[in-house]
Amino acid sequence: MTNKNAGIDGSTHHTKKGCVDKLKKMSDYVDNDLDNVAKKSFDDHLANCPPCLMVLKSLRKTLEIFKTDKTPELPKNLANELKEKILHKTDGGR
Ligand SMILES: [Zn+2]
Repeated sequence: MTNKNAGIDGSTHHTKKGCVDKLKKMSDYVDNDLDNVAKKSFDDHLANCPPCLMVLKSLRKTLEIFKTDKTPELPKNLANELKEKILHKTDGGR
């Protein structure tokens, strides 16, 4: 499916306002970053909105390919460095 844009932003169909909202949060949903209420409304929306469901499915597939294709290997040093940076930031921001 490489027709133009997948219609995420396109105004070809009448896009429900809720869709835009959901599409914005789609990656959060996939990452399980939503709280229960948001997730519930997401599930409800998806149950009634095949286009959004399709976007979700393809997004998941893409992420899976990403994961299996190039496994990101974070060196331990880097992980520690990041941790320290984060701790510093929260600790004593100027
Ligand atoms: Zn929708």
